[in-house]
Order: sequence, then structure tokens, then C-alpha cells
Amino acid sequence: MPRIFAIANQKGGVGKTTTSVNLAAALGQAGQRTLLVDLDPQGNATLGAGVDKRTLKSSVYPVLLGLASLADARVTSPHAGLDVLPANRDLAGAEVELVEIENRENRLKKAISECADDYDFVLIDCPPSLSLLTLNGLCAAHGVIIPMQCEYYALEGLSDLVNTIKKVHANLNRDLKVIGLLRVMFDPRSTLSQQVSAQLESHFGDKVFRTVVPRNVRLAEAPSYGVPGVLFDKSAKGAQAYTAFAQEMIERVKTL
Ligand code: ADP
Ligand code: MG
Repeated sequence: MPRIFAIANQKGGVGKTTTSVNLAAALGQAGQRTLLVDLDPQGNATLGAGVDKRTLKSSVYPVLLGLASLADARVTSPHAGLDVLPANRDLAGAEVELVEIENRENRLKKAISECADDYDFVLIDCPPSLSLLTLNGLCAAHGVIIPMQCEYYALEGLSDLVNTIKKVHANLNRDLKVIGLLRVMFDPRSTLSQQVSAQLESHFGDKVFRTVVPRNVRLAEAPSYGVPGVLFDKSAKGAQAYTAFAQEMIERVKTL
């Protein structure tokens, strides 16, 4: 049975996709059989993992609607140990179509369970909303990884996400918990970043991951080459941080 984690935060541009792609690639590099599920119609995780979203034969969309199996829809990425359940624009329609479908919040969970023996880790890149797509991610997962920037408004919105996670835990998925908050795009020279970071540690204790991902331009450049940042420039600080984060996750799952 794989460990399944949703990477979620209803804010856009906070590093969900960068975290999903790089953690998945780093886990693959570490010999963990990993599936990256792209649940965002923008398909950025698909692209970042090196899969061309314009030429997909299948995607997560028919899988959610029960029209294709995960085994048929997944693609092997060009990178070690990494499969991708890709997404493209089609997925934008799923939100509406799912409403009609029975057991609509558990479609992804069911699909993953059919390939459970193939993976050690499944990572789900959620869209920037608390939508039915994100709900599918939360219902399929054992835990949530929340990437956040250490800026003034970082904590705003966090309570909405935490409340949603609590509701899903209470009503739909007793396994679900917050695994941790990941500080991303961190600027060590900024006093504000350091203050917010310290606040997070004092409020959330060991729910804050030890690894801190710095702001690093190589991570931002990598997607345009279709190569995860951790592989694009292994010596870059951002790549090293995500590689360290993969080790932290491998350790953390042993305690769950
Ligand atoms: P989300 O999926 O939450 O919308 P992304 O992962 O797409 O966020 O990140 C938003 C933007 O910030 C992207 O352009 C991405 O390349 C950039 N970015 C993410 N993390 C970093 C980082 N650590 N350093 C520099 N740029 C980053
Ligand atoms: Mg994204």
C-alpha cells in the first residue's frame, strides 16, 4: 500500500506544483516508486515532470469519471522511478460532471487503490481551490503537505484549509491529517521571512518540516525544460532542499 499525500493550499502561486514535482522526482531518485497525480486543469505538474500535455492519449479526467483506469491513463515519465497521471484543460469540465456522479468525492481514491501495489508514494498536486477536485485529493490521501511562503499573509487562509481538512477527516476520510507545513521560496535575508518562520515553528511545532526550501531561480527555470528542478541542476540550493525534503518524508512516513 503506497503512502498517499495531497499537496494542497487554496492559494495560487504558493509552490504546490513545484513541491509536488520536485518531491516526486526526488523520491523517484531515492528508489521510491512514485506516482504524481496532476489534479489541476492547468497541467503544470504534468509539464514540469516532462510529459507533453498536448499529446496525451488519456488523463486523470476520464479516470475520475470512471471511463478509464489509472493503469491505462498513467504515463511513465522520462525520469527515474516516476509515473504521472497527467492533466490538461479537459479536467476543467470534471468539476461539473462529477456532481452528477455517485460517490463523487472518492473517485480518485478508488482509481489509486486499483494500482496500489505499484507504488511506494503517491503525490497529488491539488488545484488552488477547495473544489470537488481538491476534495478528491483529500479523500484519497493519508495526509496533507501544505507549502507556504513566509510572508505577512501566510497564515491568512490557512485556517480555511485546516477547517476543510478537519471536516473531511470527520465526515469522509478518517485517515486524513496534516503531515506538515513546508516553508518554500524562503529568503533568509528578509527579517519578515525569519519572523514568520519562527512564528510558524512556535504555533505548529513539529508540524513544520525541518527542511526549508529557499527561493531559487533554477527551480523556476526547470519546468520550461520539462525537467524537475532536482534533476535540472542538482547542485542548486533549491534542488538540494527538495532532495533533503524527500529524505525527511521517507523518515517521516516510518513514524505515521
Ligand atoms: P502553485 O502550484 O501553488 O500555484 P507553483 O509551484 O506553480 O505554485 O509556483 C508559483 C511560481 O513560483 C512558479 O512560477 C514557480 O516556478 C515559482 N517558484 C516556486 N517555488 C520556487 C522557489 N523555491 N524559488 C523560486 N521560484 C519558485
Ligand atoms: Mg499549481
